[in-house]
Amino acid sequence: MCGRMGENSFGHGQEARIKRGELTMAKDSNKNVVIAALNRARSAELGAILQYMSQHYELEDRDYGALAAEMKHTGIDEMKHAEKLAERILVLEGTPTSEPNMKPKKGQSIEEMMAQGISLEETAVKDYNESLHICRQNNDYVSAKVFEELVCDEQEHLLHFQDIVNHIKELGTAYLATQVGGAPAK
Ligand code: FE
Ligand code: FE
Repeated sequence: MCGRMGENSFGHGQEARIKRGELTMAKDSNKNVVIAALNRARSAELGAILQYMSQHYELEDRDYGALAAEMKHTGIDEMKHAEKLAERILVLEGTPTSEPNMKPKKGQSIEEMMAQGISLEETAVKDYNESLHICRQNNDYVSAKVFEELVCDEQEHLLHFQDIVNHIKELGTAYLATQVGGAPAK
């Protein structure tokens, strides 16, 4: 893990040195470039959380319980990402941003929600791959690992949204009927 003290496998001495930036960073200038990349990602995660949770409430309200639960699950994944980024920013002695990069859209059709999900996840995969590269260029392999984990998760989100779009294309209302009702989102 790349989180706070006590939550990873580093020894105390090594943890303190990482916290001071000695083991993963050469210069403050490098550190600030990485913190900026981590905060850009955090801002995008906060935007995605607001969007997916808003879609979760709207789908729940329209009785698409199963799809609503899926959106909530994805939103919670993004919360974990935002938290992971904040933990790394704090280790680097930066300040985690609390500003989402977008305002959530309301009143979308299911097709619009899924198309937006694909767009958000494609952007995340592209941006996080670039950030991963920035971290490596600045000798911060620990932050690079955080981005690597995020890219894997965003890729899964992307595939999931693509699957839903394909189901709607191929099965139409027959698929949508399977998303109605269902267990309330946990
Ligand atoms: Fe994410
Ligand atoms: Fe995602």
